[in-house]
Amino acid sequence: MTQFSLTDDQIAIRDMALAFAADNLAPHALEWDEKKHFPVDVMREAASLGMAAIYTRDDVGGSGMTRLDAALIFEALATGCPAISAYLSIHNMATWMIDRYGSEEQRSRYIPRLVTMELIASYCLTEPGSGSDAAALKTRAMRDGDHYIVNGVKQFISGAGTSDIYVTMVRTGEDGPSGISTLVIEKDMPGVSFGAQEKKMGWNAQPTAAVIFEDVRVPVANRLSDEGMGFKIAMSGLDGGRINIGACSLGGAQAALDKALAYTGDRKAFGKRIADFQALQFKLADMATELECARTFLWRAASALDAKALDATKLCAMAKRMATDVGFQVANDALQLHGGYGYLADYGVEKIVRDLRVHQILEGTNEIMRLIVARDLVGRGNR
Ligand SMILES: Cc1cc2nc3c(=O)[nH]c(=O)nc-3n(C[C@H](O)[C@H](O)[C@H](O)COP(=O)(O)OP(=O)(O)OC[C@H]3O[C@@H](n4cnc5c(N)ncnc54)[C@H](O)[C@@H]3O)c2cc1C
Repeated sequence: MTQFSLTDDQIAIRDMALAFAADNLAPHALEWDEKKHFPVDVMREAASLGMAAIYTRDDVGGSGMTRLDAALIFEALATGCPAISAYLSIHNMATWMIDRYGSEEQRSRYIPRLVTMELIASYCLTEPGSGSDAAALKTRAMRDGDHYIVNGVKQFISGAGTSDIYVTMVRTGEDGPSGISTLVIEKDMPGVSFGAQEKKMGWNAQPTAAVIFEDVRVPVANRLSDEGMGFKIAMSGLDGGRINIGACSLGGAQAALDKALAYTGDRKAFGKRIADFQALQFKLADMATELECARTFLWRAASALDAKALDATKLCAMAKRMATDVGFQVANDALQLHGGYGYLADYGVEKIVRDLRVHQILEGTNEIMRLIVARDLVGRGNR
């Protein structure tokens, strides 16, 4: 990418994902939401096009693309269904963590099957007593020879119960971030179980539940990197995760804006199309402008991550906060422009609003995004 335009390859990647979303996601999104159906078969079709390991290295089957490419793909997929695009983004994040921090043996053991989604991956950081304050996690992994014995509960885990692989942050040492390690825990290891599926406002096309570990014997060979590296691994996964979830918000909001444009061009009130009222034209103009600003900035943050820029974490936090706030606002405005019909499920806008709401909460709440930015601006002390 030059600063303001995409390459031909990037346009082709985005068009491929847009076509996949239009053909395979959009026609079913409302039904999946209503029936709480997790379309693993459709995600495997996306995987066959390289969308399950987008920024994982290609020597183990990954697509070897950039974070900016990933942002283009997740935005495009989210035009069809934000919940499925977001799930694919979590799978991509967990897969990348194994690629980036795993040994050659771990990479070749897991990644080829994560690339095809024969194995589905989840990311386990949050606990019932620690969300934003993730470094306070309590899930304990006690060393016992060549194994760890893991006990604890992970809360709100996307994919829980369906996923095969749980990339899990556990406490192997003292309190605080330096006592945390990362283990790859498999669904069928004895002692792994799941809570009831959560009933949610949105994201109904993917499962969310607690993951419970009771005396689970996990081989030391399943630890990513060294003991004590887990918090760093978790946070570096989230830098990219935040770009991805922001991209999902942009895609959902773009779909809602497109629906609003079509609807206001058709709907009549006071003897004319409602799109002829200047107040609504200005609203549509503001929606498109805000969305374009958020998109442009998200691409900048993705490029900073690709370049391993020193301020990449801050830019990713800024972009996540902005893209998810703007995305929700644009979708909500699109609902308003549909009048009462926007509130009905059949029009598909209220589903987008419900899906995008959670993007302001997860992968770090938008308050925590401000915290990251503010720390960088004013430091931790009394400066
Ligand atoms: C549908 C869904 C899917 C999820 N999927 C996953 C997953 O796959 N894996 C995973 O690990 N987690 C997942 N999460 C968890 C999610 O990341 C957490 O819910 C989120 O980090 C917030 O943690 P919390 O819910 O404990 O809220 P809390 O941390 O208790 O926060 C409560 C409120 O206080 C605010 N707050 C807290 N600390 C501060 C502060 N220092 N300054 C200002 N405000 C503050 C927060 O912003 C929030 O508004 C998911 C959550 C949901 C809802």
